[in-house]
Amino acid sequence: MNPNPNISPWLYQLKRTRPVDIISGDLTTDIVVVGGGISGIMTAYFLLKHTNREITLVEGSKVAHGATGHNAGQIVSEFERPFTDLVREYGLQKAVDAEENTLYSWVLLDEIYAEAKLQTPLSSFMGYNGYKHRAHVVDALKANLLRQYAGTVTNPVYIAKEWLLRNKLPEEFKDLFQTVPQSDILSLLETENTEYICATALKKGCVNSALLSEEIVGYLLATFKARFRLFEHTSVALASLNKDNVNLAVMTNRKDGNPEEGYQMHCNQVILCTNGFERIRIKNNSGDEIDAKFHHMVNGDIGYMAAYIEDLNHPPTALGYYDQDETDSVNIDAYNDIPYVYKTRRPYELEKNEMHNLICIGGPEQQVAETQDYDRYAPFIKEKGEIIDDFVRKNVLNHKDKTLEYKFKWHGIMCYTPSNMRVVGSEPKNPLLYYNLGCNGVGIMTSIFGGYKIAKMFVGEKFAPSIFDPKK
Ligand SMILES: Cc1cc2nc3c(=O)[nH]c(=O)nc-3n(C[C@H](O)[C@H](O)[C@H](O)COP(=O)(O)OP(=O)(O)OC[C@H]3O[C@@H](n4cnc5c(N)ncnc54)[C@H](O)[C@@H]3O)c2cc1C
Repeated sequence: MNPNPNISPWLYQLKRTRPVDIISGDLTTDIVVVGGGISGIMTAYFLLKHTNREITLVEGSKVAHGATGHNAGQIVSEFERPFTDLVREYGLQKAVDAEENTLYSWVLLDEIYAEAKLQTPLSSFMGYNGYKHRAHVVDALKANLLRQYAGTVTNPVYIAKEWLLRNKLPEEFKDLFQTVPQSDILSLLETENTEYICATALKKGCVNSALLSEEIVGYLLATFKARFRLFEHTSVALASLNKDNVNLAVMTNRKDGNPEEGYQMHCNQVILCTNGFERIRIKNNSGDEIDAKFHHMVNGDIGYMAAYIEDLNHPPTALGYYDQDETDSVNIDAYNDIPYVYKTRRPYELEKNEMHNLICIGGPEQQVAETQDYDRYAPFIKEKGEIIDDFVRKNVLNHKDKTLEYKFKWHGIMCYTPSNMRVVGSEPKNPLLYYNLGCNGVGIMTSIFGGYKIAKMFVGEKFAPSIFDPKK
């Protein structure tokens, strides 16, 4: 029997052979990156590429075994907040910048693939989000109106002509959508559920972000032998920030039965890429207290996912379904509370030379009071699987009468910042501390841009104030 009941398709595919290197003494280094998920790996990558600094990456478990190894692997330049909501809170320019920064991650990803000659499969294509209610249609159109006004890219919006016969939209939206038969919308969303009346399109992709992170780590270890070190099963327990340097108290998390040991790391700057704030305290010896603010900065939500396999006879796709049933429950101001379900399909090599399509469905969540209370080895909760089953029966083409056999069921922790936006940059109370964190449900693309931005900050590039800036 497998001792870990939480194996995602991504960790199943990892089949890693690289030995684990655990810290075994005090050391002095230049920059410490804490956290070996996609954010930490990307931050280390860009720092090594754009600076000549020495980087030590410290991971409490193993590389990519956090959210990066338990997500849906959809690459999307979206946030868990509607564009209109961001404009309301931060203004048009900052909202546009945030979207454009995240879109720029596609360029960065292409560059990384070319430079490191990566082999991890990555597909990109047009993906779709489906909506059932007028409030969502109007919001999508308002977002496009604002984007058009700002001179940035708008997203195609398709609205069912049958719905438009019964519903009038304001004149100002008339050039911002295309009218199509509802059957086209259902076909884009791969569903027979006639409640869907609108689909928006945007560039999406699929990747195994754990495999990608592991491959990049291999590249960094091979390419920057003199400037890059990685320790796993090594946790930072306390970061003491001084005026000119940082001391880190680290603990080994040995799984081999040997007792834990504590060591000191001395560095010039530290970058937290820890998703949330598990197992770490901050002591600021050169300014106002940070720890309290820091620990209130995130809330935990466990995301549950399941995947089944099919024949390899359809192209990859990534779809989002805004699935609530009651029109009255649609409250655009509280978008976060609106349940949505996401589906991806991608080619997947189950065993060597055994290719299938892997269909992943996610959506159900469970809040946890403290992120450290999340047990990554906990079994899957049956009721969350039933929500996924119900969605599949209602929405996935030709699955009404099927009893699905899931090949994988897994969960992962998503740490939400109060703004539901990633935090990227240096701590106003002590600039030796940097953040690239806050999973916030969708985080692959923002992690990449976050890593790039931090590296550019280290070489003196100035950035306009941004939605991602750490709060004072
Ligand atoms: C169910 C689910 C579905 C998702 N689907 C998508 C999706 O489709 N698309 C998308 O873009 N995003 C998705 N996400 C979000 C995405 O996975 C995350 O935003 C991204 O992986 C975050 O990467 P990270 O490196 O910030 O965090 P993680 O991958 O969690 O890495 C953080 C690492 O820091 C380590 N760490 C923490 N504290 C310490 C410490 N004190 N010392 C040392 N190490 C420490 C942890 O062990 C961990 O490995 C999903 C997330 C979940 C859970």
